[in-house]
Amino acid sequence: MFDENEIKRNIPVESPVQPRELGLESEFQFSCHKGIACFNACCKNIDITLTPYDIIRLKNRLGLDSREFVARYTMPFAMDYHNMPGLKMVTKSGTTECIHLSEDGCGVYDDRPAACRYYALGSMGVRKKESSSVDDIYFMVKEEHCLGHFEPRKQTVAQYRHEQGIEKYDEMNREWRDIVLKKRSSGPTVGAPSRRSLQLFDMCSYDMDSFAEFIQSKGFRSIFSIADEETRELMDDEEKRLLFAMRFLKQVLFGEKTIPMYENARGQRIVERKEVWSRREEKAARQWREQQEKSKFDEDE
Ligand code: SF4
Ligand code: SF4
Repeated sequence: MFDENEIKRNIPVESPVQPRELGLESEFQFSCHKGIACFNACCKNIDITLTPYDIIRLKNRLGLDSREFVARYTMPFAMDYHNMPGLKMVTKSGTTECIHLSEDGCGVYDDRPAACRYYALGSMGVRKKESSSVDDIYFMVKEEHCLGHFEPRKQTVAQYRHEQGIEKYDEMNREWRDIVLKKRSSGPTVGAPSRRSLQLFDMCSYDMDSFAEFIQSKGFRSIFSIADEETRELMDDEEKRLLFAMRFLKQVLFGEKTIPMYENARGQRIVERKEVWSRREEKAARQWREQQEKSKFDEDE
């Protein structure tokens, strides 16, 4: 049913991931609660990849803008062969313990990332053979320190996702997950993305504040035809802005045109940029000549 090679590519060697594939109605035995002997053990050795919606929730929780949050609470890493930028949750200095862990438990519980909500379930988007659609599959992650697997409680994957508030996270991250999967599955042999497209991916994924400035910029507005009212709505609503950023990324990376563009806007923009560059070059040349003349004059003196 699924491309097995794709699944294998995404599961690390020596992984605690259980091989049984689960669906939404599959039942599993697990419970995590405050009184359990291993409470917080999972937060003491973390490797959490942050999603765009995780960043929005966490930065707002901590009262930071995107750039401050990324600088203080994340670590960059390359998500694929082409250095697609990813972010990991940062740990406390010199440890593998999550920076948000306190004696009372998670310090950002209501806004904890999707990975924390899912654990000890895992999820993966898998592209069906000969299809462009992506399906979700689920699996258990059994690690020695986690005693939740010995608790008697049983539930379905759907119930667990609902209890953990995962549905909203998945809804907000789905387009991003598909973009990452599509880029990753193109493999190392397909041409490397340009530096500019990696920068755009970085901004659209992790920096909604810069994206807000970007969509108000003259450059953007001279290419894309967006009504003022829609722009205002995107400014006011960060979640809508994130979904719009994913549409923009798909348009830039894969040519999926969902945002209307002005006719020949790109050509016009290039002409304008060339004029700006040429004015800058002329200015730099003039300054250089003036500098040379001044040095000559100082020497003669
Ligand atoms: S964010 Fe909270 S739940 Fe997630 S690893 Fe950190 S302390 Fe644990
Ligand atoms: S039961 Fe598992 S998930 Fe819950 S606190 Fe213990 S180690 Fe963490």
